[in-house]
Amino acid sequence: MKKMTIEDKLGLNIFHVDEENSHIEIDKDFTDEKEIQKLLLACPAECYKYNDGKLSFSHLGCLECGTCRVLSHGKIVKKWKYPIGEVGVTYRQG
Ligand code: SF4
Repeated sequence: MKKMTIEDKLGLNIFHVDEENSHIEIDKDFTDEKEIQKLLLACPAECYKYNDGKLSFSHLGCLECGTCRVLSHGKIVKKWKYPIGEVGVTYRQG
């Protein structure tokens, strides 16, 4: 049996996304690159982007792991909660 890659496994997840309402709010004006790099490296879904000195975030594809909330110590992530109702990720592999 062929071993599945991380990308293969993530590709099996199902997302029911509320595109209008993010369950995570960040401080997009945050500028400490050392702290920003932590989130860029840690987020398994690559929800955080940092281009031309500007931090951006998309909740689409979030795996709801909570890593960014823990790492930011309230500095970048201003609000974190699970999506409401049946919105969010449904894991189908592992
Ligand atoms: S909860 Fe996890 S997957 Fe979602 S944005 Fe934070 S680190 Fe990324």
